[in-house]
Amino acid sequence: MDAQLLQVIAVLCAMGALAWLCLAYPLRIASVACQYFALADLLLLLSLLATLQRGSQPDWWAWAFADLLGLAAYVALRRGVRRLWRLPQTLQFELALIALATSAYLSATPGPESLRLYIALYSGFAALLCAAIARDLWCATRAAFEGSAAAPTLALPFLFTALLMAARLLGLPSEPMLEPAADAVALHWVFLLLTVLLNASLFGAVLSRLVLEIRRQAERDHLTGLFNRRSLEQRIAQEQARHRRHPQPFALVMLDIDHFKSINDARGHEAGDAALRHLAQVLPPLLRQSDVLGRFGGEEFMVLMPLTDQDQALVVAERMRVALSRQPLRWQGREIAITASFGVADSRHGDQLLRQVDAALYRAKANGRNRVEVAA
Ligand code: GH3
Ligand code: MG
Ligand code: MG
Repeated sequence: MDAQLLQVIAVLCAMGALAWLCLAYPLRIASVACQYFALADLLLLLSLLATLQRGSQPDWWAWAFADLLGLAAYVALRRGVRRLWRLPQTLQFELALIALATSAYLSATPGPESLRLYIALYSGFAALLCAAIARDLWCATRAAFEGSAAAPTLALPFLFTALLMAARLLGLPSEPMLEPAADAVALHWVFLLLTVLLNASLFGAVLSRLVLEIRRQAERDHLTGLFNRRSLEQRIAQEQARHRRHPQPFALVMLDIDHFKSINDARGHEAGDAALRHLAQVLPPLLRQSDVLGRFGGEEFMVLMPLTDQDQALVVAERMRVALSRQPLRWQGREIAITASFGVADSRHGDQLLRQVDAALYRAKANGRNRVEVAA
């Protein structure tokens, strides 16, 4: 029965590895992360095959080897998760864990008297790695899926595994164990469940990463990474709808780079692109977290400022104008001065808001550029 159960888990791991490889290669979805997940399933499969070699008289080297393969599988899982969410890799931490585990296994006397140590090592390291993966998943998804249950759903299977491993470690008897615990079958049922749960959680993680990427591409401008016109207009419409119910003000600031065409003409289109990216770096630190900065089109940008009136927005616009004029673009070892003209209007203009902010910007251009004008 027990061997059959292990064989079922082995088949599940093989199927898991195959599914991850399909995602990584023909489908090319999160390729590198899926390769790590496939590797993890393959390592678990090898670990199970080594476990099946233990036989009724355990071969202690096969035991240690199987455990180390299992731990390597968790390391591969962690690397895959961190790659998926673009978190920096922590190779030293993982190498240190593997080295520590290997030397502990090697220094233990192979035989039944080391059984407790083997179980303690495996459970302890697996608990540590699963807790680290749960934390990575939680931190990476919490902000992106705010207000939904995505982060706990993805992290929970790993947290559960970590707690289970920790409980196994803490529940070890104090006296030496001379043979594998009698509850091995129950434990293997739990492993079977965990194999399915962990793979499902990772599949969910890959899907949510894909959703985020599609969402990002739909709402961001490719060149600057700022919001695009579509999402700006959506957010302005939302703000207008909110304003009709709760009459708190919101403001718009529209800005247009001065004589941008001459940057393109004199230094080339690439310098023009660099100027647009420069602006996307200089302005965000001057804004509130709740403000929405986007590229409206060409060299025109828009800031939506919730809970802000025209006079307050004028102060921020002036701050942006001064910051831009003081920070020239460095381009191929030279400095290119960049200024912009600004129009400001707020929600009291109702349906005429966009027209008013545009007219104010037009006046700023007509009145000499590098200045801010407020809607009448
Ligand atoms: P003004 O001070 O009146 O705003 O003059 P301007 O030269 O900035 O304005 P104009 O509308 O005459 O020129 C805008 C230029 O912006 C023309 C267009 O080729 C350029 N442009 C639009 N989109 C991009 C882009 O994505 N990259 C680059 N490099 N240039 C762009
Ligand atoms: Mg311009
Ligand atoms: Mg323009």
